[in-house]
Amino acid sequence: CGMRVPLIAANWKMNKTIPEAVVLAQDICNNLDRFDTSDFELVVFAPALDIKPVKTVFEFEKMPIELGAQNFYYEQSGAFTGEISPAMIQSAGCSWALVGHSERRELFGETNDIVHRKVLAALEHQLNVMLCVGESAYVRDSHEELSFVEQQLKAAFAQVDASCACHCAVAYEPLWAIGTGVSAPPESAERMGAHIRSVLLDIFGMKDGEQPRILYGGSVTPGSVANLMNMPHIDGVLVGKASLEARSFVPLVQAAV
Ligand code: PEP
Repeated sequence: CGMRVPLIAANWKMNKTIPEAVVLAQDICNNLDRFDTSDFELVVFAPALDIKPVKTVFEFEKMPIELGAQNFYYEQSGAFTGEISPAMIQSAGCSWALVGHSERRELFGETNDIVHRKVLAALEHQLNVMLCVGESAYVRDSHEELSFVEQQLKAAFAQVDASCACHCAVAYEPLWAIGTGVSAPPESAERMGAHIRSVLLDIFGMKDGEQPRILYGGSVTPGSVANLMNMPHIDGVLVGKASLEARSFVPLVQAAV
């Protein structure tokens, strides 16, 4: 398993029609310096319909930006009207799958069990998994956040072979920070990052410095990213709102690396 190369991920959520997505992808390419994936990695979690056109832009521009799906179903194929399989997103050009985002858990009823099935299905199809975990303000105020996140991790990675550790990343996204405009203080991201690292060590038994990478997400901006990334246990960021325009996303990437 490799060392922890910084990882910056964009979550476009349910934004951008295909033409808008192509414009944004082109804008990112026009404004971002060429980079090497051994220095840092960049992943865009685009809406399913945008994946292929955006991938085409990045390939044409020779930008090593990876694509990820925001959602998929855990079955292989069959009578699941409206769903998309791991093989389908992979064939559209994805190398990553986002699993367990709080909006999926909260708005679409995704339980720890569903999240677990999705993690297994994605890994089975050679997709890298970005697992989102994080507590609500209520859980935080009850001082239960460490055990809450630990349960999410243990449920999601149950039966996952240690050899898959390098294909997994964990994004800590406290619900009280997502979409609020105020990111978590770097020290509290770090405290949870250290806890997540120790739980992952328990689950996967990886060596010091090895993957999985741990990201922070929740109102990350070009102004807040550097202090978060400087924390020893924070290897990257997952970015929502600030990833929707090149004029905020490109400065954010530049400030992060
Ligand atoms: C997210 O929901 O993954 C996220 C990080 O959103 P925002 O940056 O807008 O808080």
